[in-house]
Amino acid sequence: MAWFDRAKRDLPWRDLPAGKRDPYRTLVSEAMLQQTQVSRVVEKFRAFIERFPTVEALAAADERDVMARWAGLGYYRRARNLHAAARHVVERCGGTFPSEVEGLLELPGVGRYTAGAIASLAMGRPAPIVDGNVARVMLRVQGRDLDQQAPATTAWAWRQAEAFAAAAGPFAGAANEAMMELGATVCTPGPAPACGACPLATCCEAKRLGTQARIPRPKKAKAPTKRWMAVLAIRDPKGRLLCERRGAEGLWAGLHQPVTLEPEEGAERVRAWLAAPTGACRGVRFARAAAIARQLTHRTLTVEVHEATVTAAAAKRLTRGAIGPPGGQGTGLERRWMMPRALAAAGMSKAHEAALVAAGAG
Ligand code: SF4
Repeated sequence: MAWFDRAKRDLPWRDLPAGKRDPYRTLVSEAMLQQTQVSRVVEKFRAFIERFPTVEALAAADERDVMARWAGLGYYRRARNLHAAARHVVERCGGTFPSEVEGLLELPGVGRYTAGAIASLAMGRPAPIVDGNVARVMLRVQGRDLDQQAPATTAWAWRQAEAFAAAAGPFAGAANEAMMELGATVCTPGPAPACGACPLATCCEAKRLGTQARIPRPKKAKAPTKRWMAVLAIRDPKGRLLCERRGAEGLWAGLHQPVTLEPEEGAERVRAWLAAPTGACRGVRFARAAAIARQLTHRTLTVEVHEATVTAAAAKRLTRGAIGPPGGQGTGLERRWMMPRALAAAGMSKAHEAALVAAGAG
């Protein structure tokens, strides 16, 4: 904790000492930080809190507004869960967060980690936290050459964290946060943690044995799956784009986009349809404008942009009829015409943004 006081990063959610923070701000920051780099979260956190300063404000917000403020952070399920958690606190808990881990676990999207974070950082409870950073520090300090992903390792790490939080008592929040910070900034993943700057160097088994590079055991890389999609940048005479909203499940759930076709079985049927479109798009002339590749966590994504401009009469027809080859239609909802700026403000995936910019239609 003394090291943390000297070395900690100045972050907007660390406005008060650990153990005394606002549970709502803690929930927002932890939701944003899951699988997202701190540097990307900082500005988003400030803007989100400015727009929704209290749990009541978030609970009362329209889901589209919440999604728009989340845009750019990815993993949109977190935003929907955060919104649902705020409603739960307001509607079922009278606006006051539960103070114990058991009660916090009832909030939508709140698992053991986030419950431990809120209980220890905001409520001053001796609750444990294990994230990837904490587990790595513990494994190295105790010289355990284990697979960090294995369920038995996770169970072991939680037992260690429970003992650690119990020993820290009322300072568990500060101790937890120090461990997380140490793992994030000093005892980093990869073969060369900064042992020279580490406050645990004198009691670290991995350092003593020189086994830091082997602990935890390197992950076996999974081959990413491939996914292809066609973005149809269809404009009406006013320069508006034909847009839709994605369904509530799956990739980029709930976000807006230009009409997008995502065939199950690959690109060829959609490309053939684009050359001679049928249904609501009969007579529309598409031109391929750009193709970009994006690497998502477990997927390699190729996005092709096909452009067309339609007459006012065709524009009316396109808000209703089926678009795409049979079986290759998009899954979007609420099709309507939007100016590109309104689409961006409504919340769109980074891949769609990049595809439109590449096509000069952003
Ligand atoms: S001494 Fe090195 S390996 Fe051990 S906890 Fe510190 S940074 Fe990690």
